[in-house]
Amino acid sequence: MIAFDLTLRETLAERNIPFDDDRIARAALYAAYLLDENQKMNLTAIVDEREIAVKHFADSLAPLNYVDLPKGASLADIGTGAGFPGMALRIFRPDLRITLIDALKKRCLFLERLCAELDIDDVDIRWGRAEELARDDALRERFDFAAARAVSSLPVLLEYAVPFLSVGGRFLALKGPAEEASPKTALTALACDIEAEHRYGLGGDERRLIVVKKKAPTAAKYPRRAGMPEKRPL
Ligand code: SAM
Repeated sequence: MIAFDLTLRETLAERNIPFDDDRIARAALYAAYLLDENQKMNLTAIVDEREIAVKHFADSLAPLNYVDLPKGASLADIGTGAGFPGMALRIFRPDLRITLIDALKKRCLFLERLCAELDIDDVDIRWGRAEELARDDALRERFDFAAARAVSSLPVLLEYAVPFLSVGGRFLALKGPAEEASPKTALTALACDIEAEHRYGLGGDERRLIVVKKKAPTAAKYPRRAGMPEKRPL
């Protein structure tokens, strides 16, 4: 994983994201395990070491450039897939309390094996749809932050993510440059505001980090039943 190691070091240095040898070594172990398991199941379409360093790891770490994540803050990654951005954030900010959520059981099982490989035992992995897990008292309105990347449009993501946040918490949407459906109705229904939108370039791609702040408790009717947010976005 020499190419991965060098590319990640170079990209993080360019972006002023702090790292040390131990974090790079863990990320390399993660990337190697991801590529290995990807032979057996569909985890990532990106299989070039350098691209994994930039498009999975450096992109997942973008919140560290723009958002103050206090020590020990809790963060739920909705639709984490193979662990992005949540697991990458856990490696570079071990103080964060990370919960990884995904609807696909085989991806959750992969994440459990990955944690064992990396000797990480403080990540909470939840198998289920966000719409259903957000009804669990142990998870609803419990998080300082939620994040999601490559899961759905912003109106749909808001309905998935905002119910997990405590009032004052922030949702971090890691997005591409494309314009999408207006989030206006969803922002009003879910009592939140766009606080900031950061644009940055990464490996030749244009990326955006949208930061949404929750202002009041989520109405009991949200999220609607599983499938509805995607079928009829707010
Ligand atoms: N976030 C990862 C990334 O950026 O590489 C994975 C993206 S993958 C394209 C989308 C993931 O979201 C899939 O693993 C899928 O199972 C999960 N997902 C989609 N809808 C979901 C929902 N309603 N609740 C939980 N997980 C969901």
